[in-house]
Amino acid sequence: MICASIICVGNELLNGQTVDSNAAYLGRQLFSLGIPVVRIVAVPDDIQRIADTLSLACSDSDVVLVTGGLGPTDDDLTRQGLARFLDCELYENEALIKQVACFFEQRRISMPQRNRIQACLPQGTEGIENTLGTAPGILARQGDAVIVVMPGVPHEMKNMFEQNIVPVLQEIPERACVVMKRLRCFGTGESMIADRLGSMMQRDRNPLINCTVHFGVITLTITARADQQARAEALVEQDVSYLRRELNTLIFGVDDQTLAQVVGQLLTEQKKTIAIAESCTGGLLAQCLTDHAGASRYFNHGLVTYSNEAKITQLSVSPECIAQYGAVSEPVAGAMARGARARAGTDYAIAITGIAGPAGGTPDKPVGLVYICIDSQEDSHTRRFQFTHNREFIRSRSAQTALNMLRLRLLGFD
Ligand code: ATP
Ligand code: MG
Repeated sequence: MICASIICVGNELLNGQTVDSNAAYLGRQLFSLGIPVVRIVAVPDDIQRIADTLSLACSDSDVVLVTGGLGPTDDDLTRQGLARFLDCELYENEALIKQVACFFEQRRISMPQRNRIQACLPQGTEGIENTLGTAPGILARQGDAVIVVMPGVPHEMKNMFEQNIVPVLQEIPERACVVMKRLRCFGTGESMIADRLGSMMQRDRNPLINCTVHFGVITLTITARADQQARAEALVEQDVSYLRRELNTLIFGVDDQTLAQVVGQLLTEQKKTIAIAESCTGGLLAQCLTDHAGASRYFNHGLVTYSNEAKITQLSVSPECIAQYGAVSEPVAGAMARGARARAGTDYAIAITGIAGPAGGTPDKPVGLVYICIDSQEDSHTRRFQFTHNREFIRSRSAQTALNMLRLRLLGFD
């Protein structure tokens, strides 16, 4: 099967100064073009290492995409590395020198001598016009492999890739049709999902299912390959239907949907409103809900009642209740939610109270203990959670869990 390697050149990628966003972008593009990437490598500005990495990549890849190191300074060595790998000399290309000179003329600047190197190509390769900068790209062929060298500057690289390289890659006949869909789950762990999926997660399966987790949200990516688009779509749909049956309410959305977005849609459809009272999340839940345009249809207000006094004066939580049970307790969470709903006159209220840490935990009430209440006219439901890790995780997990509780309540499952 056809495959690709991505090589990004630049010391800044290896010393942690720059995050390699070029590789991530090219990986996504190749993936959707049906050309799987088998290797992403960052290499320093070093002729021999660039040549060696090209040699490795060309040994097993049909497409080799390289970015960076095409600048005019002495540390830009990709064209020299390519020439060494191809075992040929660099020469100044007439058409390219005109392009580079033209770039400077348009800006009424005289071309510095050192920019002439950017018009140099290894013998037998072709230049690729760069309409946004001074570094032309290079297209080379070695055996069956196509090598494309592009500038390191992300917007120049993207422009060149989309304008000049995509059409070349689309010509490759062995490309597969690739269809990808993501299912977003919340309320369980990765291992439990893996157990439920069993052999569906085998690495040689088509569709391939990948599982990633971010702040408690588990994303299942289902990728099918086939020689025809419709066949790939059918394969994905078959898995999606099975997973929907198997994971049921654990799935809250697809692709880029967030819990807040889904909850917002449900509130809008059901014409319901919500108020929020937060303590340890400090407004995070209100932020999640208002991140999405149209939130004013359902979001009434959010109060951050961090101190006991604020809970008492703003939400009418009784001082006795706090004295008896403590601010982080089931009765206080319930009282906060009822107070918020009474004050706002909304259909629902959510209250969160907990210990985000790192200090403030006790043996009885350790860091990560969180109570979340969903209150409505019909009922009031408080749950206790014990989250772990750090402050950021505990706060984020609390907000996400509150949204998920409301989602299940709105769907009639809780
Ligand atoms: P060019 O080939 O366009 O001349 P270069 O490598 O010679 O690129 P640099 O000065 O090294 O130019 O890089 C230009 C900018 O692009 C820098 O800000 C650098 O951090 C960024 N850059 C280079 N490679 C990458 C990459 N793989 N991902 C993200 N940014 C990158
Ligand atoms: Mg560089």
